[in-house]
Amino acid sequence: MQKGPADILQQERYRVLIDHATQPMLILDVEIGKFIDHNHQAESFFKLSGDQLRELGPADLSPALVAGKNAVLYSDSLIQKALDGGQAIFPWVHKDSSGREIPCEISLVRFPPYERRLISATIIDKTGSQEIKQALAESQERLKLALEVTGLGTFDWDFQEHTLLWDDQMDALHGLGPETETDRLKYLFSVLHPEDKHWIKDRLSHAAQPNVDLTSFDKEYRIVLQRKTRYLQINGSFFRNAAGEILRAVGTVRDVTAGKETREQMIYQAALLKNVSEAVISTDDLFIIRSWNNAAEKLYGWSAEEMIGRSILGIETDYLDQNDADVLSTFQKDGYWRGEVIQKGKDDRSFHLLSSVSTMRDEAGKEIGYVAVNRDITKEKEAEKQQLRARQLELKNKELEQVAYVVSHDLQEPLHTVKGFVRLLDQRLHEHLDDRSEEYVERINESVDRMYNLIRALLDYSRIGLYEKTTEVNTNSLLEDLEVDLEDQIRETNALIRYEALPVVVGYETELRVLFQNLIINAIKFSKPEVAPEIRITALSLQEGWEFCITDNGIGIPGKHHQRIFAIFHRLHPAAQYPGTGIGLSHAQKIVELHGGKIWVKSIPGVGSQFYFTLAK
Ligand code: ADP
Repeated sequence: MQKGPADILQQERYRVLIDHATQPMLILDVEIGKFIDHNHQAESFFKLSGDQLRELGPADLSPALVAGKNAVLYSDSLIQKALDGGQAIFPWVHKDSSGREIPCEISLVRFPPYERRLISATIIDKTGSQEIKQALAESQERLKLALEVTGLGTFDWDFQEHTLLWDDQMDALHGLGPETETDRLKYLFSVLHPEDKHWIKDRLSHAAQPNVDLTSFDKEYRIVLQRKTRYLQINGSFFRNAAGEILRAVGTVRDVTAGKETREQMIYQAALLKNVSEAVISTDDLFIIRSWNNAAEKLYGWSAEEMIGRSILGIETDYLDQNDADVLSTFQKDGYWRGEVIQKGKDDRSFHLLSSVSTMRDEAGKEIGYVAVNRDITKEKEAEKQQLRARQLELKNKELEQVAYVVSHDLQEPLHTVKGFVRLLDQRLHEHLDDRSEEYVERINESVDRMYNLIRALLDYSRIGLYEKTTEVNTNSLLEDLEVDLEDQIRETNALIRYEALPVVVGYETELRVLFQNLIINAIKFSKPEVAPEIRITALSLQEGWEFCITDNGIGIPGKHHQRIFAIFHRLHPAAQYPGTGIGLSHAQKIVELHGGKIWVKSIPGVGSQFYFTLAK
């Protein structure tokens, strides 16, 4: 400030006031008609340097006419008003160094020291500021509303400052409350789908290279909020400086999850349809096939290409015990039908199907077509039939066993009679019988005995498991008892029977005893001449049960007989060579099967046999 005669203290106070004023200020010396002081705001307002300003007066900074009046005359009267101690506030027009006219408001007051005629002028820029602010606020409001309606969020990402500014809509899109205090950039990366985090980082670092001429972007990214994925579509532009560096990225974001989900749902449903094992066929309301899935192709043998466009009624269908008209009326009444049908495919092969047909309707409830889901149950039906046959067979077997039991029981009666009368005949005629007749009597007796044995064996066979309950059976003790029973045979043949640590099994004790007995007797009976029988009994623990094995060193059995010997009455040798009824092994097989097991033989003729059987644990 120029030194004047005024008080220094006073001057300094006004200096501070001028310099800290927020508006441009000029000090006018009315005497010389020039501005003697100003603040920085005035320099930038008029786009003039301090020295230049000091050369000028009010007329130089104003157009000739202000509000239609001669500017100089008009201002003079206002200046006078201020000099008189009043405050003059009035609209004015200024022009800056470029000649641009600036509407403003001026406030004039007399400025100390009062011995000089100094006036301070404070300039308030009125360059439509209010209107612009108003218009801006309105347009922002409109934009906000528009964004809200469209669900668009906007953002402004400052690459230099590493800050991301976004609006409330962006907060809402990203699951944030509007007032949440958090760094949006960090937050965004914290909710980004892990897979998208990588490509976004890659893409940004690619875009950030100065030589990359990328000005806009349009991509989709995913965020994960509470385990749910949201799909967001981002569109925006990069602003770069002259060196090509990105300064900012500005743009909008839209939620596209709903569309995405519908699309995904459709893809998922299509995949499901393709992969289900049922044939799924849809038709329009005139029964023209519209879709034909993979399973339908496989089942019927016709491809989707062949079938789409054809009528489904062309497929030959047998509704089994229902007639076509009944099926149709039920379907029309309920909009749904489920039942078994037999249909024919391309190669004329028929199959049994479980079919569900339902009506498809549009949102208004109008019928738009039908969908049939057909499951091939041919195999199940076949298995059902087989089971039925097996059950019938089982019943037949039971019946036969009963007959065998009754018959063998009744057959003993006449045999008793024959045996009794032969004995009487023998007693009465004994002295008179010649050798030949005696031999006949003996032959009759032998035959009767054989018949007895056969009948008894048959009786035993048909009685298996009939009256008993299962118990725990210690097979070790069972064999010890058997050895006592077979003592004579063992001694006569010098047989050696070995076994150790055999298990306790659950089963029918008497039957198990017969099983071991039949196999051991056979092993002794079918021994090689002059070779003492050696029999070994072992048991192997398997997951599904026990596997027993009875090994002998006997004559063995040729391979072709390995299965046949288990059939009833099947024998390989005449009774004279090896006595027997041919029931022993079928008896054994029946007992093993009664216990849920199997029996089989491995044998080498001349070396020996191994009879295996299993018993459930
Ligand atoms: P059977 O012993 O009364 O003849 P099986 O049903 O027990 O009747 O046996 C049928 C046939 O199997 C026997 O006749 C015999 O030829 C043969 N067989 C059975 N066990 C043995 C064995 N351990 N070694 C050789 N052959 C055997």
